[in-house]
Amino acid sequence: MIPEDHPRYRSLAVREHLARCAQEGIVTLEGLTAHGRGEAFDYLMGEETSPAALRAEQIAAALLLSAEHPVISVNGNTAALAAGLIAGLQEASGATVEVNLFHRTSARMAKITRLLEDQGVRVLTGVPERLLPLSHDRALCLRAGIGLADVVLVPLEDGDRCQALCAMGKTVITIDLNPLSRTARAADLTIVDELTRAVPAITQFCRELHGREVTTLSKGFDNREFLQEAIGDITRRLEHALD
Ligand code: ATP
Repeated sequence: MIPEDHPRYRSLAVREHLARCAQEGIVTLEGLTAHGRGEAFDYLMGEETSPAALRAEQIAAALLLSAEHPVISVNGNTAALAAGLIAGLQEASGATVEVNLFHRTSARMAKITRLLEDQGVRVLTGVPERLLPLSHDRALCLRAGIGLADVVLVPLEDGDRCQALCAMGKTVITIDLNPLSRTARAADLTIVDELTRAVPAITQFCRELHGREVTTLSKGFDNREFLQEAIGDITRRLEHALD
């Protein structure tokens, strides 16, 4: 039992939750280590949403709203951490939600789909095809989902798949606390923020943005600026770490 007055209560509670999800087969052991990398970067970022990340979240909302076929691609960690939040984002953005896993088994697909549906997500299902030029199972997706998407939100992604989606001409938005990752550098738009802070912020912007704002925001941004600001934030925090 983690005492609620523990200074790291939230972080410990999330770890406990993810460990339980790993026992249930929703999150993989590899997924737990990926979470640890995210935590490390979040620590360096001060565990709060930066002004640059908030701007990126606003642009992400504009891109989703202006898309013809927006899709949210959900993996095990995303489902475990944010199933209910994904339901809210789906509702506000009108996006299709598709499950896509690196460690893909039909049992895991079914468990993650059930978890999402229990939280109110409408999950696209069907017969997957190898639509992406990748040798692993993240290549498998649905023609009516990721196959058709013009804008794809891929939280906590790996670099190969992000690059493959970009090469197919899709606009790729990622949420990744590591501004140095291949995903962060390959995506059209990288939100350097923690998943459970980023998703509600994008949802809120989806509810607020209208007409011309959507068009203006969805054009003319430079992802390198967001990455540079995140790296600058980390550098400044390290420089003043012992003040
Ligand atoms: P790449 O192939 O892009 O270089 P990688 O091998 O680091 O990336 P993965 O381990 O597949 O990629 O991806 C996990 C990424 O997600 C990591 O960069 C990690 O920082 C980030 N991450 C993990 N948990 C969270 C979270 N809760 N919120 C935001 N980002 C997270």
